[in-house]
Amino acid sequence: MSSRGLFNLGWGALSLAGAAYLSCAAMGGRFSHSAAFEGNPPGEASLAADPGPGAPAAAASGASGASGADAAVPRVRTAPVEAYPGDAILLETASEAREVLWILLSSRGYRVSSARGFGGSETGLTAGLLALPVHTEPGSYRLERIERFPDGSARETTETLTVLGRDFGLEEVRLSAANTAIRRDASPQRKRQIDRLNEILFRFDPDAPRFFGPWIHPVKDARRSSEFADRREYRYADGRKETVVHWGIDYAVPRGTPVYASGDGLVALAEDRISTGLTVVIEHLPGVYSLYYHLDSLAASEGESVRAGTLIGASGSTGLSTGPHLHLEFRVNGEAVSPDWFFTLK
Ligand SMILES: [Zn+2]
Repeated sequence: MSSRGLFNLGWGALSLAGAAYLSCAAMGGRFSHSAAFEGNPPGEASLAADPGPGAPAAAASGASGASGADAAVPRVRTAPVEAYPGDAILLETASEAREVLWILLSSRGYRVSSARGFGGSETGLTAGLLALPVHTEPGSYRLERIERFPDGSARETTETLTVLGRDFGLEEVRLSAANTAIRRDASPQRKRQIDRLNEILFRFDPDAPRFFGPWIHPVKDARRSSEFADRREYRYADGRKETVVHWGIDYAVPRGTPVYASGDGLVALAEDRISTGLTVVIEHLPGVYSLYYHLDSLAASEGESVRAGTLIGASGSTGLSTGPHLHLEFRVNGEAVSPDWFFTLK
């Protein structure tokens, strides 16, 4: 087995738990691949507005600074022992199971997140990407792996995951009457756009592309004007206020700046939307998507295959936006994950 197999990627910044299974129990009948993901924000929560020059870029990148993987790290990973809200967790198993599902449970048994396994293209291992929602409270969680075998038997194993605390920035964004109207647009057209985007972001296609990196920033040498999961206080034209979460990164770039695909994949959406303007969505893995908002023009079309670095459009200020910028977002099983988690994947 090559030491550069796909699933050997991505653990450099995370501590490893080792093979520390806490329990092993047979189970049957309760596992279904059609299980709904719970607690996910809708795609339309991702309304972006550039706060303008001088805005703080305060959010800290959660998982960073640890040593890289080396020969001492086992080939088949178990879960990391700790992670930050807004991270994803790359899981893998050499299981012979027909289906694999990972479920993250709170100490009270509440389902925080889940991930379906999918086959790798090189290693034959089963991988899964589990999103840790930004609102996850620090503490101890149970990560269950459920395997279902061809003979109908099933196996459940459990590890412990510690979720650490993470601070997010806070910013105030004043919205014009036009931007306020976009936020309150309840037209059938906008509803159709929201439904379509959510249908894509929650879609898990086992035949989706397989791209694990390296990931690239979609614009070059750009200052960030807003960070992932910053808390935003929108101040509407009529004086009302609302606090929302900013689900991506804003890059402050002039109108017309080339925007490149962050990774290989399939263009799942390329259209003009009321709230996010000219928009591109790329599918990179089963359930894993990158999103590009407020473009001035599109250079990609739906159904097209792209590589990391393929030109997909030019930046702009379309949709709900207070100035030219690119909004980049990543979704894992519908959940927003820090783009920096992907960029630091080694
Ligand atoms: Zn944004």
